[in-house]
Amino acid sequence: MKYVDEFRDGNKARKIAELIQAEVRSDRQYRLMEFCGGHTHAIFRFGIIDLMPKNLQFIHGPGCPVCVLPAGRIEAAIKLVENSENLILCTYADLMRVPAGKRDSLNRAKAHGADIRMIYSSTDALNIARHNPEKQVVFFAIGFETTTPPTAAAIKIAHQEGLKNFTVFCNHVETPPAMAHILSSGEAHLDGILGPSHVSTIIGSHAYTECCKQYFMPLVIAGFEPLDVIQSTLLLVRQINERRFEVENQYRRAVTESGNKKAQALMSEIFEQRPLFEWRGLGELENSAIQIKNKFADFDAEKRFAIEHIEIADIKGCICPAVLRGVSNPNECKLFGAACTPEDPKGACMVSSEGACAAYYSYGRYRTEVTNL
Ligand code: SF4
Repeated sequence: MKYVDEFRDGNKARKIAELIQAEVRSDRQYRLMEFCGGHTHAIFRFGIIDLMPKNLQFIHGPGCPVCVLPAGRIEAAIKLVENSENLILCTYADLMRVPAGKRDSLNRAKAHGADIRMIYSSTDALNIARHNPEKQVVFFAIGFETTTPPTAAAIKIAHQEGLKNFTVFCNHVETPPAMAHILSSGEAHLDGILGPSHVSTIIGSHAYTECCKQYFMPLVIAGFEPLDVIQSTLLLVRQINERRFEVENQYRRAVTESGNKKAQALMSEIFEQRPLFEWRGLGELENSAIQIKNKFADFDAEKRFAIEHIEIADIKGCICPAVLRGVSNPNECKLFGAACTPEDPKGACMVSSEGACAAYYSYGRYRTEVTNL
């Protein structure tokens, strides 16, 4: 398959892995955080972890959009749709299954009669609004900078069309502040970062320069295919050995230094920084998320419906917050694979296709070696 097989060539992967084996120093540890859940899944799915030296560990980061959303925001959305007769809530598939208050999820609320619809894009939400003028349609928007431009586009189109029944419950978050928080806390004891790929296509490699400089942290923006991840790991090992703290871009076929200017302009036309936002696992972080500008307040569900702030503790025993901060592994959770499975998830990290617990469960639960952080 053109443009896929080339990046899954086993022989090339083994050769690069041999270089990694040869270049790691035996007298030190290499603790590399893959910021994105997509990398976590590639590492397990393609057996990359088995090609690595014993003293190189992959630490899973908070880069899963579903996982970092606090359960209270989901509960608030459930309450909104359950308490309004005339409202349709639209959102992406992964979010539907995440447990919120009293173990309810959007899926369960839907089963009890709430009009919640699973969509594939923000355009779907717009279409639902166009076809249901008598109803209010709320798009429950989540994600990092990758999914923000389509949300911005939907708001802009709704504004241009004068749609009166379309709003967005905005939960978009930003990558660099979360990365800075993880590095400033020092909890995860990192030596390098495999940087996000899709996010970087939007914000560009330059977005991490300050952070890396400030925390003396090497970072390599890595694509999601197995050869991307292995090659980026080699680049990180070299930086660490040479005591360089640079932003390198392995994913040059998609990421530029300045990113996608058109998408950035669209985002800043519609959104502004939100002073404070709560992340699951990381707590409340300043200037780490965005909100809809006043000019587009008519399309802001939080303003139109006065969505309430709800706080919900994670289920007892679930260590999702520690997994998201890179200080625990999913297999250290007592519920992993027993009470908590993808069929019956107890925490967000087991639900999402980018969640670390789901990656461990799908590809790593029969591994005999347990990586302890
Ligand atoms: S295994 Fe389940 S309960 Fe444990 S941390 Fe992961 S999602 Fe939470």
